[in-house]
Amino acid sequence: MKIKLSRHKTKIVCTIGPASRSEKILKKLIHAGMNVARLNMSHGNLYEHSEDIAHIHRASEEIGRTVALMIDLPGPKIRIGKVNPDPLPLKRGETVTLCTSGKPGSLSLIPVEYPELTASVKKGSLIYLNDGFIQLKVRAIRKDEVDCRILVGGMLLSRKGLNIPGSPIRIDAVTPRDLEFVEFGLEQGIGLFCVSFVERAADLQKIRRFALERGRKVRLVAKIERKKAVKNIDEILDAADALMIARGDLGVETPIADIAAMQKQLIRKANLRGIPVITATQMLESMTEHILPTRAEATDVANAILDGTDAVMLSEETAIGRHPVETVRMMARIAASIERPEQASQWAFDLLDRFKKKKEKGTISIEDVISLDVIEATRILKIRLIIAPTETGTTPRRISRFKPPCWILSFSRDEAVHRFLCLSYGVLPLLLDEGDGNDWEALLEFTRARGLAAPGDTVILTESAPPGSRQNTGSLRIMRL
Ligand code: PEP
Repeated sequence: MKIKLSRHKTKIVCTIGPASRSEKILKKLIHAGMNVARLNMSHGNLYEHSEDIAHIHRASEEIGRTVALMIDLPGPKIRIGKVNPDPLPLKRGETVTLCTSGKPGSLSLIPVEYPELTASVKKGSLIYLNDGFIQLKVRAIRKDEVDCRILVGGMLLSRKGLNIPGSPIRIDAVTPRDLEFVEFGLEQGIGLFCVSFVERAADLQKIRRFALERGRKVRLVAKIERKKAVKNIDEILDAADALMIARGDLGVETPIADIAAMQKQLIRKANLRGIPVITATQMLESMTEHILPTRAEATDVANAILDGTDAVMLSEETAIGRHPVETVRMMARIAASIERPEQASQWAFDLLDRFKKKKEKGTISIEDVISLDVIEATRILKIRLIIAPTETGTTPRRISRFKPPCWILSFSRDEAVHRFLCLSYGVLPLLLDEGDGNDWEALLEFTRARGLAAPGDTVILTESAPPGSRQNTGSLRIMRL
C-alpha cells in the first residue's frame, strides 16, 4: 500500500468528546491531520472511553494511519459538578453559592467536588472558574457553602475547573482515581498517560511504579500547570517522557503575562533533552463556535511551532466544538505554512549551535553526534528522507528536535515505541512485522514499495552497530537510490 506523507510535520493532538467520537468524524479527523487522540478522564465515563478507544482503533486501521491514544489523568484538579441549567448564566454583581455537600445545582448554587473548599478560602479570596474566565470573590463561608460575588460573569458549563490561586491544594498530585484510570488504560492496551498538576519527579514515579507492578512500562507526559512544576522542571524532565504546556491552568496558577516566556523556556528545555513537547489550550478556541479562528489564534499556533513545539493540542475545539474537522484542517494549514525552512526561527539555529559546541568539546552522546551529522547532511545535500530504525525511539527523537526539512521514517518492532513517536515533529512512525527485515536493504525496499522514495532520491540511513542490536545508534549512510 502506498503511503502519502502529510503536508504538516507538527503533530496534532485532538481531544475526543461528543463532537468527535463517531467513527465517521474520527476518520475525517485522521484525514485532516490528527496524529494523537486524547481521552480526557475528567469527562465522560469508562464505558464511553472504551467505546471511543474501539472507534479510534477501527478508524485508524481502516485509513491505514497510526493514531496514538493518550489518556489524560485528571489529577487533583478541583472541578465543579453538574450545573443546572447547563450552561449556567452568571451575571456580574450577583451572588452565587459554591456548595460541597452534594446538593444539586440551581440558578444560585454551583456544586463543587472538593470538601476542603471551605477550609481553603478566606473572606475576600478570589476563586477562578473555567480557566479564569469567570471570577468570584468570597463573601461568606459556612459549614459546606461559600457565598461569592460574581466579579466577572459568563456562561458556565458543567465540570469546568476551579482554581484558588496561591492556596495549596490539599490532595495528592496522583489520586486513587488516577490510578484506577491507569489500570483501565493498561487493560485497554494504552501505555501513554498525561499526568496533571505534577509538582515533582516523585509524582511521575508513583504512576511508573504502579504500572511496573502490573508488568507494564508506561510513557508519561508531565503536564506543567503549576508554579512549583516550573520551579522543579529539571527533576521533572529527568522523570518524564514528554512535556505538555497546559496553558489553561498555568495561566491561572501563574501570572498570565508570563505565559509566553514560560512556554518558550519549557519548549527549549524539552528540545535540549530531545523529548517531545505539546503546547496546549485555547490554540484555536474561537473555532469551537466559529468557522474561522482569530488572527491572534492563527499566529499563536504558528509561534508555538517556531518556539520548537513538537505537537499542538486542541481541547474543546474537537471535543465539543461545532467544527472539529475544519479546526484540524486549519491547524494543519497553519503548521504547513510556518514549517517552510525559510521561516526557521533563531532558536532552531541556537539549538544546533549549542550541540555543535558540545561536540567540539567532546561532551555529547553517540546519538547526539549522529543527529547533528544527519542535520549537517540535510543542509548540504538535497535529502529526500531520513530512515531511522530504532529500538527505543531515541535516535529519531533527537534528529526530530532539529526540525529537519525532510521526513524522518522511524522503523520499529515495538508497538509502544512506534505509537509514542506519533508525538515527535516530522517523524512518520512505521511498524515492522515479524516477517520484515530491518537491514538497510529491507528498509529501503519497504520505503520504495510504499512510494516514499524513488530512483535518483538521496536518503540518509542511521544504523545501530551491529544493525538491529540494542546498542546505541552508531553510524549513518548517505545513499542515492
Ligand atoms: C490545561 O490546563 O491547559 C490542560 C490541558 O488541562 P485540562 O484540559 O485537563 O484542564
